[in-house]
Amino acid sequence: MRKASYFIAALVIGGAVAVAAQERIDQDVFWKIRQEGTNNSKILSTLHVLTDVYGPRLTGSPNLKAAGEWAIEQMHAWGLKEGRLEPWDFARSGWTNERLAAHIVSPVKDALVAEALAWTPGTDGIVRAQAVQLTLPQRPTRDVLTTHLDALKDVVKGKFVLVGVPQTVLVTFNAPALRREDADVVTQLNAAPAGPPQQNQQPPAPQAPKPAEPQPLTNNQIQEQLNQFLLANGAVVRINDAGRDHGQIRAFNNAAYDVAKAPPTVVMRNEDYGRIWRLLADKRSVELEFDIVNRTHPEGRTSYNVTAEIPGSDKADEVVMLGGHLDSWHAATGATDNAIGCAVMMEAARILVATGVHPRRTIRVALWSGEEQGLLGSQAYVKEHFGTAEEPKPAHEKFAGYFNIDNGTGRTRGMTVFGPPAAGTILREALAPFADLGVLGATTTRSRQRGGTDHTSFNEAGLPGIGMLQDPIQYATYSWHTNLDTYERIVEDDVKKSAIVIAAAVYHLAMRDEQLPRFSKEEMPRRPQQQPPPPAATPAQPQAPPTTATGTAGR
Ligand SMILES: [Zn+2]
Repeated sequence: MRKASYFIAALVIGGAVAVAAQERIDQDVFWKIRQEGTNNSKILSTLHVLTDVYGPRLTGSPNLKAAGEWAIEQMHAWGLKEGRLEPWDFARSGWTNERLAAHIVSPVKDALVAEALAWTPGTDGIVRAQAVQLTLPQRPTRDVLTTHLDALKDVVKGKFVLVGVPQTVLVTFNAPALRREDADVVTQLNAAPAGPPQQNQQPPAPQAPKPAEPQPLTNNQIQEQLNQFLLANGAVVRINDAGRDHGQIRAFNNAAYDVAKAPPTVVMRNEDYGRIWRLLADKRSVELEFDIVNRTHPEGRTSYNVTAEIPGSDKADEVVMLGGHLDSWHAATGATDNAIGCAVMMEAARILVATGVHPRRTIRVALWSGEEQGLLGSQAYVKEHFGTAEEPKPAHEKFAGYFNIDNGTGRTRGMTVFGPPAAGTILREALAPFADLGVLGATTTRSRQRGGTDHTSFNEAGLPGIGMLQDPIQYATYSWHTNLDTYERIVEDDVKKSAIVIAAAVYHLAMRDEQLPRFSKEEMPRRPQQQPPPPAATPAQPQAPPTTATGTAGR
């Protein structure tokens, strides 16, 4: 049964590539992994603790540190070793929201739905005041914005300020697919690798400097100037429109990460924001009453990655890693982004320990922090432990792969590894026995561009980062970075399958005689010129968030 299904799968998967399986697959261990992951899964109990007990887990917050401490304790209880919190410098205080009560009290009485923007202050008690509208000019220069705001000083003083016309969110007649078609996944896996071409090209010639005419401000510059204006002129609370349907709110952070540089700020669901805006448009007087309690945590300037290991044997100095980010945004408990990724990777390691295998290489689980602020935790870790292809530390050449998961609850459909075609072939063959669980192969990338999520911190360093291709389910449409990202959005069957597939692939890389093939020094793609860590990384498959006043966002 097992052998038959594997044989058929290998024929189908190998189709376009036409390779015979060369990898020696340990079918007995793979079968045990399947049994353990199917029958004794601990994913949901892990998820429950990470979300219901420790969520949200904003970087720098006490909750995130406590979640990491619990994860270590749990992994030790399962039999992993060497659990530790590895500090890195976040350089900003942590922040938490403890209370947010928002009401309209005139001309009607009702509760409002809103989320605080992170790293903004609270209201210092209950505040009651009138609401006013404020609109901004399109693509203003500094002078245009200054003139515009100067005329509004008296308007905002002592008021709740709604910033921007409500977005019109149209009814969706054609809902996006929750599952990807097999053919679509296979096409993607068989496409030419992304990234720079084989030959390293010369960087483009520098462009001639543009003439010095006033440039439009960036969104961040507009927000910064607007916040300074609202603070200086005594606005009570700034209110942004969430601009999404069905009460979804994405609340990120003020770009300064400094509560002294913004007024109390909330992102309000589009439905409530629109109602208030329309009442004001009728020339009715609208009164609101808010109570926001936010707290900053100076100790959060040091943040932590979590690691724990299954010790290797004859190749113990070589390491295979697997992980995902433990930090979340604060508007919900961060279940699909990314407590479930942590729960899946912890489960993959648990399965391996429970099946009693003795890996040759060390297997290390890593749960990152600071991902949402620009992959900061994984960047710090790679720099500290491995260096780069250009300036390697000794551990760089002992590194045998890093599996990362961060695309919500959808089951794993394929994997993308940074490396030469041979690396993709090995992964593809290792995954072939699991075609019945929905995983259809592997492909490679040559891109060292950082962004998206944490395996790109490894790719950037020239190390074999491995990203999961997953079914979308409701990630981009509902739960990604929203106030709806909770335990309830997890599809148990999908995440169990992902843990099984990843456990097997990790095991395979930990056992084979040679490490996963890597680019030679000559073949190594050039490292792209990086901007400073992007506050607004875009997701790999889902749509990027619009650059609205909901703040900035990572993945
Ligand atoms: Zn994420």
